[in-house]
Amino acid sequence: MGVRMPPIPPSPSTGKSSSLSRLQQGLAQLEADDLLRNRSLLESHQGVHVRVNGRDVVSFCSNDYLGLANDPALIAATREALEQCGVGAGASHLITGHHQLHEAFETAFASFIGKPAALLFSTGYMANLGVMTALLDRHGEVFADKLNHASLNDAARLCGAKFSRYAHGALDQLEGQLARSTARDKLIVSDLVFSMDGDIADVEKLLSLSERHDAWLYLDDAHGFGVLNEGRGGMTEAARNSDRVIYLATLGKAAGVFGAVVTAHETVIQWLVQRARPYVYTTAMPPMLAGALLESLKLIKHGDNRRDVLREHVMALRQGLVNLPGWQLMPSGTPIQPLVIGSNADAVSVSKKLLERGLLVPAIRTPTVPKGTARLRITLSSAHGDDDIARLIAALGEIAGT
Ligand SMILES: *Cc1c(COP(=O)(O)O)cnc(C)c1O
Repeated sequence: MGVRMPPIPPSPSTGKSSSLSRLQQGLAQLEADDLLRNRSLLESHQGVHVRVNGRDVVSFCSNDYLGLANDPALIAATREALEQCGVGAGASHLITGHHQLHEAFETAFASFIGKPAALLFSTGYMANLGVMTALLDRHGEVFADKLNHASLNDAARLCGAKFSRYAHGALDQLEGQLARSTARDKLIVSDLVFSMDGDIADVEKLLSLSERHDAWLYLDDAHGFGVLNEGRGGMTEAARNSDRVIYLATLGKAAGVFGAVVTAHETVIQWLVQRARPYVYTTAMPPMLAGALLESLKLIKHGDNRRDVLREHVMALRQGLVNLPGWQLMPSGTPIQPLVIGSNADAVSVSKKLLERGLLVPAIRTPTVPKGTARLRITLSSAHGDDDIARLIAALGEIAGT
């Protein structure tokens, strides 16, 4: 009736999506920069002798430091738990998903580590988001080592606190930042064993700074739990006894299963149950995995032989690569032994040559590590044989000499 309808806009499905073309350009750029990541296809169980992309290889890249992921006792315990409680958890922990096996693991873990209480999360990534968003808001400040794991950085950004980073290991710089801070709640966060460098944080010094400046100390021990100090990880006695210290172990690495566990003062744990969103708003971990974790904890407690073998492999590798021309292992006493190559392209090329020799060692490139420090991240496992280590040393010597 006299009202003119506006023209119908062209249907978006007939034109090319400009957002989609941006993604295509982005992928092409990653490829041009040697940064396109490809997933290898694992066709066997996890372990050190595996079949990947149709090829039998010795793997130097899993975090299964104690060879537990495929351990017969662990498989048997998981099967038993599966029979006992079925597959899925069915609900979140706060509804009906909290099984007695979850509870039993939390109790056993807290007592093994020597902290008052523990809380099981589905992954380390979720635990880091959960802890930091529950403890901090815009009135807080996070103080973080620059080489911390990406999940800790994401958590720091998400929680809305001020985010201050200090150069790797620069605790004097950290002290200055703490002294200048006017935040109501402060939290110092650090990888305990740095995931790409393999070195260990100075826990004593971090603890004394946290005490002097009334801050939480959050330690992410994804790579130390199960390996350091008879398996208890990198925490010190003083840290164990401090109400300020919150300790995270992830359970998909040395523990060989899946998940993560936070241990701290009871009040902190109770607060996380109320407020950690990646705990509250998610389905509980399948209880059979908590059953598996109880067995894994036993294997870790009695794992001194595995840890001895692992230590010997670390020493043999370092000894064997002392005179390698051109490339150097970073200083590390942990099973993470990074060999710095330099450019992304060179690191990829060495990794390819190793693969041709049946050795799987991934190249870690920017942005995971700083530019110009692309590296082979060699990880060792107690499941490696002496001959596996010898093969890697020989192959690297050959490749360096060509
Ligand atoms: C692997 C890792 C995580 C994440 O743990 P997931 O259980 O794999 O999600 C967190 N922090 C560090 C330092 C890690 O290496």
